[in-house]
Amino acid sequence: MKAYLSKVKIDVKKVVLDSGAVVAGVGSRDRLAMAPPSADMDYCLKGAQSCIIWAYAVPFEVLKNYFGKVERVSMKKFSYYAYTTGWATAERIARYIEDNSAFKALPVAPNGVYRGAGGKNVSVNHVLDTERAVPPFSLRYGAVAAGLGHLGWSGNIVTEKYGGSLFLAGVLTTAPFEPDPMATVNHCNKCKLCTQVCTTGFFSQIESEPPVIIGGVPQVYSRRNAQLRCAIGCAGFTGLSRDGRWSTWTPGHVCLARLPERRMTGRYAKYRIMLPKFFSPLVPAVQRRFNKNIRDGFRLAGEIANFGLLPLDKISPRCGLCSLVCVADPRQRRELFELLRSSGKVYLDGQGREVVRKVDASGRTTEYVPPQEQH
Ligand code: SF4
Ligand code: SF4
Repeated sequence: MKAYLSKVKIDVKKVVLDSGAVVAGVGSRDRLAMAPPSADMDYCLKGAQSCIIWAYAVPFEVLKNYFGKVERVSMKKFSYYAYTTGWATAERIARYIEDNSAFKALPVAPNGVYRGAGGKNVSVNHVLDTERAVPPFSLRYGAVAAGLGHLGWSGNIVTEKYGGSLFLAGVLTTAPFEPDPMATVNHCNKCKLCTQVCTTGFFSQIESEPPVIIGGVPQVYSRRNAQLRCAIGCAGFTGLSRDGRWSTWTPGHVCLARLPERRMTGRYAKYRIMLPKFFSPLVPAVQRRFNKNIRDGFRLAGEIANFGLLPLDKISPRCGLCSLVCVADPRQRRELFELLRSSGKVYLDGQGREVVRKVDASGRTTEYVPPQEQH
């Protein structure tokens, strides 16, 4: 049996790497025994013994265009590729394991689904309604258990060769594969650029969450503020830097990082923040239409509850900067941050097109219309 499982593991890794993944590994149930509930494999697949986790790395040229506000269509296409390929590959592997053994296997949705009350899964809309939404199975925790790397200050996985600018995918299985060795060195150098690129104040610069123990190793990452901050900012309703000089890919110029935490928490926080700032009649009509598109996208993502099945026109990246900035080379990470800081802000023109406006050090303003989404 051992030899057979080891052959299946080799086959499975080959399928993963052939799909374009840059790293892949296998983790065991034991290593996740002391991690938080979202590492509990039984929630998704009773009796699961192993997680197979892999990742797709975002090309640096795509990142430069995204951070520098040259264009974001390449990021949109890469996100679509990574989510759909990750999901299709996970389905293929799960089928392969079940067809070639007596073990069960389950593909894990790469994003867009969360644990609800009574053991039921709920959609992405839930992240706007709850203090802490957790996925059915945390691919990040699984990635640490599978030896891909450690959790960085951002809470994202940081790998040796590709940093944390990654899209994860995975499969759970009852097959007791031999786990891969855990990563020994933590490649997060605590540069904290992940917190500096976040316009919403989601992360603490100094304080950490209680450590998460995976494979006996404590994983330490930043304390989180209200999840609503990231839900609003990552979706793209708003994203303005504290100094007001640059935005994420959104014309919403409310700086959530400046809002005190008490305003971002509590049962009606979503309505308190979103209705007046993004949907009131005082918000220009063209921007309300933009916000409505985001809200509709959220609803559709909620119905599908799996980013691996979203059509291209519904993938519309506007932030995600905390993980994307974290490329492996610290100089390139700094380069992305500097590009962002001088990238200006996004506005909408009368036709609803995105316009980038930058003011350089001498006060000269440049304005241009970057390539738009075709949908
Ligand atoms: S950006 Fe820096 S501090 Fe943040 S996770 Fe990456 S290496 Fe760590
Ligand atoms: S996705 Fe954007 S808003 Fe959310 S935590 Fe990361 S940087 Fe902040």
